[in-house]
Amino acid sequence: MQIKTILNRIQKFKSFVYGAVRLIETGDAPAIEAELRARSNSQALCSGCDRPRPGYDTLAVRRFEFVPLWGMKVFFVYAPRRVDCPACGVRVERMPWADGKHHLTQTYAWFLAAWAKRLCWKEVAEAFRTSWDSVFRSVEMAVDWGRAHQDLSGIRAIGVDEIAWQRGHRYLTLVYQIDAHCKRLLWVGEKRTVKTLLRFFHWLGRERSQVLEFICSDMWKPYLKVIAKKAGQAIHVLDRFHIMAHLNKAIDKVRAEEATALKAKGYEPILTKTRWLLLKRPENLSEQQDLKLADLLRYNLKAVRAYLLKEDFQLFWTYTSPYWAGQFLDQWCTQTLRSKIEPMKKVARMLKKHRSLLLNWFRAKGQFSSGVVEGFNTKAKLTTRKAYGFRTYHGAEIALYHTLGALPVPESAHRFC
Ligand SMILES: [Zn+2]
Repeated sequence: MQIKTILNRIQKFKSFVYGAVRLIETGDAPAIEAELRARSNSQALCSGCDRPRPGYDTLAVRRFEFVPLWGMKVFFVYAPRRVDCPACGVRVERMPWADGKHHLTQTYAWFLAAWAKRLCWKEVAEAFRTSWDSVFRSVEMAVDWGRAHQDLSGIRAIGVDEIAWQRGHRYLTLVYQIDAHCKRLLWVGEKRTVKTLLRFFHWLGRERSQVLEFICSDMWKPYLKVIAKKAGQAIHVLDRFHIMAHLNKAIDKVRAEEATALKAKGYEPILTKTRWLLLKRPENLSEQQDLKLADLLRYNLKAVRAYLLKEDFQLFWTYTSPYWAGQFLDQWCTQTLRSKIEPMKKVARMLKKHRSLLLNWFRAKGQFSSGVVEGFNTKAKLTTRKAYGFRTYHGAEIALYHTLGALPVPESAHRFC
């Protein structure tokens, strides 16, 4: 059987035929070259307007990389024609296997993009003996296509989240769809300012913004402001995950300060290696950690009291009536404000200030998938931290859309992997 026969079976182009197929020796390994030529009498299509146009000239032969076979690189070899288009001027013809100046065939680019969902980009480049840059361009192409073809109808619930990246205080704002029937990353923006979130609503469009029913977010002021302005009709819920994160941060601060103070006074280092004991939910602790926590709780430490306040607060989420949840919240805040533990008092003041938004949690209960923001947050952090090799915001953005966007792919993209 000839390779040409296989190519005609798996990758046929309407106005082009395969010519000679050669095995060529390159530096380290052989490669396969398959010639392509235009079917005789077929007229070239202008790449500007997709219309058949009279020929102008023929360019030098170019190589387009196709899906590798048995560890060998495969190239299509073709001399593109140029057309003289009355509408677009002199243009190179449309080639159905490639996109513009890209040297990868579209099939190969979709192939690499699909693998880049399973492996990190560097691994994909190594596995298929291509460059990191080719993998990046392929993913970028897949993301562009997917974002242009995604269905944005029926979005009722969204979650707004921020993640720090590149160490230090640089943030990304992420917006997820958190409807029960569809959960995905919708949008990524640089920073976490009023402008950032305004850009999201601009992208979503006025009509779609005004049918939103639930929005989950952190107590971050710029977000609160923009959400009230752009989607005032939606029930705005302060997300459980973000609130518990604030409490954990406070505990962490109390614990670190107290540990330093104890050490300075020459006491036993009872607080060292207790960080996760205090931050994890008790049901997630191992038996050994359980014992250690029980031991720690005997001490009258600020960190212990902060921990108990946090665990007490978990009760808040179990209420069904907003009224009784409100009563509980007031009581908890009063108690915490008397605790003389400044980081915890700060959280209590913040919760008090946003009382009504907090109680929206109970008004919206069961209307959207509430754990979703936390799950996405974890995955997003992992994606930006993983060794994707990008240093730019654009690289991070593309990686996030690719892994979390649930973007559509054309049917033909599944054929090779
Ligand atoms: Zn044209």
